[in-house]
Amino acid sequence: ASWVPPNHPRRESLFIRERLVDGFRDGYVAFQGLIAHGRGECFDYLVGESTIPPALTAERVAAAALLTASHPVISVNGNTATLAPRQIVELSKLINAKLEVNLFYRTREREELIARVLRESGAEEVLGVADDASCTIPELFSERRRVSCRGIYTADVVLVPLEDGDRTEALRKMGKTVIAIDLNPLSRTSRAASITIVDNVIRAIPNMIKFAGEMREMPRDELVNMVRNFNNEENLRSVLTFIRDRLSELASKGITLEFPKP
Ligand code: ATP
Ligand code: MG
Repeated sequence: ASWVPPNHPRRESLFIRERLVDGFRDGYVAFQGLIAHGRGECFDYLVGESTIPPALTAERVAAAALLTASHPVISVNGNTATLAPRQIVELSKLINAKLEVNLFYRTREREELIARVLRESGAEEVLGVADDASCTIPELFSERRRVSCRGIYTADVVLVPLEDGDRTEALRKMGKTVIAIDLNPLSRTSRAASITIVDNVIRAIPNMIKFAGEMREMPRDELVNMVRNFNNEENLRSVLTFIRDRLSELASKGITLEFPKP
């Protein structure tokens, strides 16, 4: 994105947007993925474009859940593949999780392109491509229910950065622990997940890598207890309270930018 001026106040955000556009041009980010990103940006303004305390808590607990899982799987879609490919692969290695391409708008071409992006980022194995996605999630229809029999279908813990609400609910009904990363605390995904991380994927994955690295050597019981003591309902309430308080503070302080008097 050479057109982005070096001193542009929204430089970082423009660069991230450009990554989505690149992924779209390369054929693996869906049209709908661009719209979803815009919605994420909107909620990112509300949390102040940084990781808020309840998100940090959820990230730590999510790392514990992944470290203690017997069959953890990270579900990857086009947006995730373009936003954090190397980080996703690094996390998967750290926690011993399988990577699975799982698309809402599934086409053979997009599946293969995403698998290639992940392999180019260091992934050894990528599930969910072509004939591998031959198991079906109950209660979902059409292409959306196809998953890998060795991956999401048999997983006990699934990390879904940017998932659809419907599918999150279906995975929960199958008895799985679902970890969602979603900037919208009000989405069905956020409300249905077992552990909801209200943070940008760009920040959440590196935080989880850091926590997983720190917690790897911790006694298993301690990790299990962390997960057991976590209350997602309470955590989501803390997110809403944080946003409310932040907006109240801004409303009383004022938000306009200063300019010289005309
Ligand atoms: P749901 O189906 O869960 O009710 P939805 O239909 O409103 O939600 P989807 O289009 O299914 O939303 O999923 C996109 C979600 O991902 C949005 O809630 C959006 O806030 C979130 N999102 C988009 N980009 C990011 C990002 N970079 N990091 C975290 N969340 C994001
Ligand atoms: Mg949806």
